[in-house]
Amino acid sequence: MSDANANHVENRPANLAANHPSDLAARAAALDTADELGKLRDRFTLPDGVVYLDGNSLGALPTGVAARIAQVITHEWGTELIQSWSSGTWWTAPERIGDKLSPLIGAAPGQTVVGDSTSVNLFKALVGAARLARPGRTRMLVDASTFPTDGYIAESAARMTGLTVVPVDPSGAAAAMDEDTAVVLLNHVDYRGGRLHDLPALTAAARAAGAVTVWDLCHSAGALPVGLDEHGVDLAVGCTYKYLNGGPGSPAYLYIAARHQGAFDSPLPGWNGHAEPFAMTPDYTPAAGAVRGRVGTPDILSMLALEAALDAWDGVSVEAVRAKSLALTDFFLECVAAYVPAGKVESVTPAEHEQRGSQVSLRTEDARAVMDDLISRGVIGDFRAPDVLRFGFTPLYVGFADAERAARTLGHIFG
Ligand SMILES: *Cc1c(COP(=O)(O)O)cnc(C)c1O
Repeated sequence: MSDANANHVENRPANLAANHPSDLAARAAALDTADELGKLRDRFTLPDGVVYLDGNSLGALPTGVAARIAQVITHEWGTELIQSWSSGTWWTAPERIGDKLSPLIGAAPGQTVVGDSTSVNLFKALVGAARLARPGRTRMLVDASTFPTDGYIAESAARMTGLTVVPVDPSGAAAAMDEDTAVVLLNHVDYRGGRLHDLPALTAAARAAGAVTVWDLCHSAGALPVGLDEHGVDLAVGCTYKYLNGGPGSPAYLYIAARHQGAFDSPLPGWNGHAEPFAMTPDYTPAAGAVRGRVGTPDILSMLALEAALDAWDGVSVEAVRAKSLALTDFFLECVAAYVPAGKVESVTPAEHEQRGSQVSLRTEDARAVMDDLISRGVIGDFRAPDVLRFGFTPLYVGFADAERAARTLGHIFG
């Protein structure tokens, strides 16, 4: 995060008609009334009196999950026992749920499997990408601003495949791609500052350079259109416990573009990814399709919780979610400018819509103490070291009144 990314939140006099506090509250109410997605909040169970702006870390609980998991435990596990593996919904859950979330990432069916953590899927994707890469290429470009686990895994994957990691800022990634670039790992949205990177252009640049792309969608899937198929992405991973509301530690996903599936050589060829898992043969023959991205026995409870959680997306268009997300973050920034005294916070989230994810990150002194204070007042965001207050806007269950209250509460803390 460089200073070039910082925009001072512009302070306007509080008596300016457009930003008078009572006007902002009234505008929030009007925006919520007009909001088509507002009624989707009923699809979630949220505690009363809380403004929840941390759905980019742990999504809220969708209403159907508890009953579904109770049924899985008491009936499928408790009564049906082992038969649930074959007769029920268990064995094929990774690919079935992969297909269920595919529309949210712009993927046709058959290219996405759910399972393991994002970290593990990054390992599969990066080693798999290195094995797909053109022979003789030596470099793996890695987003230097990335969530740490991506960098750790990339370093090991590169070492195992004989590549050298080259850290790049995503803004300079296209210029760094050349005939020596084997693999490019980028984040769609930066987890700390909320910057949205240009997936179509960066993917096109990688293709032109003959490199294999791996995109990390942890902070974009479920918040904005991704378009994996449309833009020709090779491989992608992402979590499901953030904007997809799958629950704590819910399994991640791996996307393998159809054109690469025949050649995708997983570094973790577990028996679940075998063409005939129950033949129990000593030799490994990978399954066709994205199923070869599976490893071992899936964590059924978390996986079926995720499946039920995805019902919250029934009939929802990602484009509508994106439009509301931008309106929410715009409105929040406007309220912060009106309520927070000048000079106390600065936004590190880009003002330009095309560079903004679905969060607002405000840099301030004593950020940890400020966030603790906000949480004690019922506004839940999070703190990212060293000095960032992070507010995630999840359009399925956050409204404009929430944004207004969060900014007003922040203003009280500095007031
Ligand atoms: C949240 C997040 C992860 C989390 O990885 P886990 O293996 O699920 O712990 C990884 N990468 C990015 C970019 C993230 O935002």
